[in-house]
Amino acid sequence: MSLLKKTFSSLFKTRDKIRKTFNKILNISHLSDKDFVEIEEALLSADISWNIVERIISDIKSKTNHKLDWEEILTDIFTKVISSQNSIELKRIILMVGVNGVGKTTACAKLANFLKNKNNKITLVAADTYRAAAISQLRLWSEKLKVDFISNDKSLDPAAVAYDGVNSGLYKESDYIIIDTAGRIQNSQNLMNELQKIYRVILKLSDQVSVCMNIDANIGQNSISQISEFNEYIPLDTVILNKMDGTAKGGIAISLIDKFGFPISYIGVGEKINDLEVFDMNVYIKSLISKNENSN
Ligand code: GDP
Repeated sequence: MSLLKKTFSSLFKTRDKIRKTFNKILNISHLSDKDFVEIEEALLSADISWNIVERIISDIKSKTNHKLDWEEILTDIFTKVISSQNSIELKRIILMVGVNGVGKTTACAKLANFLKNKNNKITLVAADTYRAAAISQLRLWSEKLKVDFISNDKSLDPAAVAYDGVNSGLYKESDYIIIDTAGRIQNSQNLMNELQKIYRVILKLSDQVSVCMNIDANIGQNSISQISEFNEYIPLDTVILNKMDGTAKGGIAISLIDKFGFPISYIGVGEKINDLEVFDMNVYIKSLISKNENSN
């Protein structure tokens, strides 16, 4: 399936909500306050942040004398916001972080698969010393994908496992070393200090590190506080938005870029190994708005 097809089909709920609301007002020559409230609600419930919604409303209001081309208005504003994101190319060592259950371990495997398919040599490092299941899950993936795998069932220190894993990956000349870490709640001081330590020890081996914050797209605006708090402990480079399939809150990508300027590098669109897509601005905007994949 093409990038456009997959992203387009994963965002159907978000798109449906937006399109239904705008189609209702399509042939109305004068929009009432109630219509504007409906537009506001549809956009906010797709998790598009308040200040972007305000810009959309004010643009629509300024064009009331003309036929309302809402797709053009939304495309213009979304494009402006998304093109402000910094560009990202993942560095050699990829540290995957995030809270529990956001799809981080799965994203490690998906990313390994994605990068391996581009002819890269991969080392996967299971540094989640709290969850034996996460280690065995990643081991299974590495066997399926035929990529190097490093873990240490006896170690309780994730920084030591990460250090050994990176060392091994560098020695074996892997192009990418992907490190899975334990899901941690951002308000647990100990766990966040531990994450800082993992980051510090890796930096002793190489400065080629990208920190990827994994987010579950379904939590919408709550992801803003997760990102802010993680970023206080370690410098985040990019966001991977998992579980975009089936969410009605797909507008969250725009909100995050608007808020942080962080690039979104990938989106997760399902549980399977191939369900990871590069975040492409044009494809994403089309998937939020357009009637079908082929329309302009
Ligand atoms: P972790 O605790 O952050 O490592 O999360 P896991 O990788 O263990 O994933 C938690 C659950 O989310 C598992 O059931 C995954 O199959 C599921 N999951 C992960 N990514 C996606 C995704 O992009 N879409 C969907 N629908 N489910 C996902």
